[in-house]
Amino acid sequence: MNNGKKIHNFSAGPSILSDYALEKSAQDIDNFAGMGLSVLEISHRSKQFVDVVDQAQHLVRQLMGLNEDYDVLFLQGGASTQFFQVPQNFLQQKAVYLNTGVWSQKAIEEAKGFGRVVVAASSEDSNFNFIPTSYTIDGDADYFHCTSNNTIFGTQMKSFPNSPVPMICDMSSDIFSKEVDFNAFDLIYAGAQKNMGPAGVTLVVIRKDMYARVADRHIPTMLGYKVHGENGSMYNTPPVFPILVSKYNLEWVMNNGGCAGMQIRNNEKAELLYAALDRSPYFVGTAETDSRSNMNACFVFKSEFEHLTESFDAACKEGNISGLKGHRSVGGYRASMYNALPLESVQALVHIIDNFAS
Ligand code: PMP
Repeated sequence: MNNGKKIHNFSAGPSILSDYALEKSAQDIDNFAGMGLSVLEISHRSKQFVDVVDQAQHLVRQLMGLNEDYDVLFLQGGASTQFFQVPQNFLQQKAVYLNTGVWSQKAIEEAKGFGRVVVAASSEDSNFNFIPTSYTIDGDADYFHCTSNNTIFGTQMKSFPNSPVPMICDMSSDIFSKEVDFNAFDLIYAGAQKNMGPAGVTLVVIRKDMYARVADRHIPTMLGYKVHGENGSMYNTPPVFPILVSKYNLEWVMNNGGCAGMQIRNNEKAELLYAALDRSPYFVGTAETDSRSNMNACFVFKSEFEHLTESFDAACKEGNISGLKGHRSVGGYRASMYNALPLESVQALVHIIDNFAS
């Protein structure tokens, strides 16, 4: 899909998608479902597109192992809108948050506008290089909120607490990447643009009994989850094209072993890269070993080798490695290895790391 030049796409998001999804969607831009029209110029209420939404919802349910107790919604506004939509709907008195990075912090700040926020634990003092594991969640809170994968700092929750209150999770950067007991959550949200599809659609999976817990305040129609749930995620014009591409990408995930298949694939890639970093005399990973993310590996030059930055960057460029620049709050490098990134791209990066000599 890129004129024959093999680019290894380590972008943190929007990021690499399966060729399958790109090719299928490109065909539908030309002629969708045999209608003789582009998918970009048809009614979202046409039978052909309603079928796409149904199939996409069905795929999400299958991949996550969810039953009919959940609604699957395709909303707009990005995960950042969920930072305030969640507390606007569910924060009556007090909510408990786990502070594991920039995105958690943003969620916390937005929640403060609606009620009391208790931070159960935080790794902020060490620039978010680990996931706190020992903390308690107040049983009288309205909900508990966590971020499963910290895209910027390269840390990932390996397990989730047994929450006495509804559990809400921002899974933007590791959804569909491994097996998880998704039924343990009451609301899951994810911006699509890493493992699900292109930017422009936000997945929200909500347990229907959450509708009874909506806070006693005015909520604009578009921000009420129930409205979208009752209308099959078609209350207003949904993001037609991002949903279509996501549907194809989820088909690709399904055809490649579902979340279990992705987990095997992602473990293999991450083990390969972290092993290379651990044996490299030049680099050091920024996350603590047992908090390392399989999605985003962050690493920096050891301070005595920082002067080699330019030559490493040149070697990466020469090797067609793209999107490796670290986030400004960590510096250095970040290799994002989302589902669609092939093993050979990680092998190409490992080859450069292994053969890098001053
Ligand atoms: N949460 C996480 C974990 C993220 O990685 C991001 C974006 N990279 C966001 C939230 C914000 O998502 P959006 O840009 O869709 O608002």
